[in-house]
Amino acid sequence: MRLIFLGPPGAGKGTQAQRISEMHGIPQLSTGDMLRAAVKAGTPIGQQADAVMKAGKLVSDEIVVGIIADRIDQADCKSGFILDGFPRTVAQAEALDQMLLPRGIKLDYVIEMTVDNGALTERITGRFTCAKCGAGYHDKFKQPKVAGVCDVCGSKEFSRRADDKAETVGARLDAYTKQTAPLLPYYRGRGVLRQVDGMAAMDEVTRQIEGVLGA
Ligand code: AMP
Repeated sequence: MRLIFLGPPGAGKGTQAQRISEMHGIPQLSTGDMLRAAVKAGTPIGQQADAVMKAGKLVSDEIVVGIIADRIDQADCKSGFILDGFPRTVAQAEALDQMLLPRGIKLDYVIEMTVDNGALTERITGRFTCAKCGAGYHDKFKQPKVAGVCDVCGSKEFSRRADDKAETVGARLDAYTKQTAPLLPYYRGRGVLRQVDGMAAMDEVTRQIEGVLGA
């Protein structure tokens, strides 16, 4: 199964991709996670991407297309993958089509998570993760059960993304509206676009996605 999860920052793509990935045994390919790992490791790509990401802008198509082209040829992608945060421009979507065609791979669904734009800033600026195991939390919506202690691994260290600051969120939402939203008609025209309600409770969103996949 080959899926794309589409939606603005804060729509819940990462959370849902992680769940569906575990349920179906296919990897979640998040260009954001891969770029953050490259920044942390100080690789040449990371050095190029760092300032762009901190400004809430999009990294060049060339860089992200290269990352995905390498990734989908790895063995764990043989029976499928979930693209989370890629493609983000029409040029990236066209590059993806060019990648899949010679490999005889077809996209099954592009799942759009629809959200109320007014809710996004609060969703994004409140989120934080366990620095050790990556479990996700939120200041308002999902605090750890014991304050300051990760529910999953017991670690007491947490981190926040550098680009989840209020100052950067506007630029990220703007990039979505101007550069990524044109992908909706692109995939609608190909008959693969499906919508789920990204404002519903987390389990309900998962149920809706499963409904699409089982249809
Ligand atoms: P995300 O974790 O998906 O919110 O991505 C975080 C940041 O990484 C974005 O704001 C961009 O700067 C960069 N990024 C991730 N995926 C892409 C992509 N497909 N194209 C361009 N930039 C990307």
